[in-house]
Amino acid sequence: MTDAPVDADQRRAVRPVICYPVADLPAPDMSAYAAALENAELADAVLVPPRDAAAVRVPAGSFLRITCPKGPQVGDLNLFNATDLSERFYSGKTRALHGTHVTRGDRLWSNFPTLRPMATIVEDSLEWYGIDDFGGGVHDVIGTRCDPYTHQLLSGGQYHYCCHSNLTRALADATSMSLAEAEPFIHDVLNVFMCTGFTRDTGQYFMKASPVRAGDAITFLAEIDLLAVLSACPGGDCGAEHSSDVARCYPLGIEVLTGTPPDGWVSPQPNGYDRSHGR
Ligand SMILES: [Zn+2]
Repeated sequence: MTDAPVDADQRRAVRPVICYPVADLPAPDMSAYAAALENAELADAVLVPPRDAAAVRVPAGSFLRITCPKGPQVGDLNLFNATDLSERFYSGKTRALHGTHVTRGDRLWSNFPTLRPMATIVEDSLEWYGIDDFGGGVHDVIGTRCDPYTHQLLSGGQYHYCCHSNLTRALADATSMSLAEAEPFIHDVLNVFMCTGFTRDTGQYFMKASPVRAGDAITFLAEIDLLAVLSACPGGDCGAEHSSDVARCYPLGIEVLTGTPPDGWVSPQPNGYDRSHGR
């Protein structure tokens, strides 16, 4: 441990500055989105079995709803541009823009060079949760996804039903790729329904039993044509452990709702940066 300088307290007292004021972002018309959702009808429904994943295609202007139909269960969500898998959800930039956890009005952004909203959260039945006394919140963009490699490092052994593997199998099946071809497309997720944070004393990533209950749901507007892949995490409600068959797990539901797109809505174009990078 290094010795603190004499002005340590003054240096710590410097006030933080918000890196990206979201007020500067183009704002979605949430009342138009909500009105469109009210008139949308169920077009497709898939049940994601516990410790497995499933994929659906969601046309731009339609809605993707993730439901918790049976009991407390968290999900790991990957989003792709349905016509170009190289455009995918960028958890890190979404976190930088909207914070560690997302809810109604927040958007899920794609990677460079497109950096545009892929989906906007229109309804979230867990919006009430806020930030608890431990610093925990729901629907995080701070975790990565449980995976067999970290499990191997920490515990040894081969476990095949981590979200990373579940997503890999489901993407391979949805695109007719091999597992080896599909795996590099799997990316850091939106942890749907998961309750997480960073410990205040050590700054470590923590999880706790999700407050999600049967009947809860989160609904997104697809801003572009999406391929959505969702894993029902082997951690169940993630109250104890993941990467094993120990936790009690439940299925998750995926629904696609279609109808008239929101009034005034247009699918966002790729980012306007000219990509000349100073040359
Ligand atoms: Zn998982």
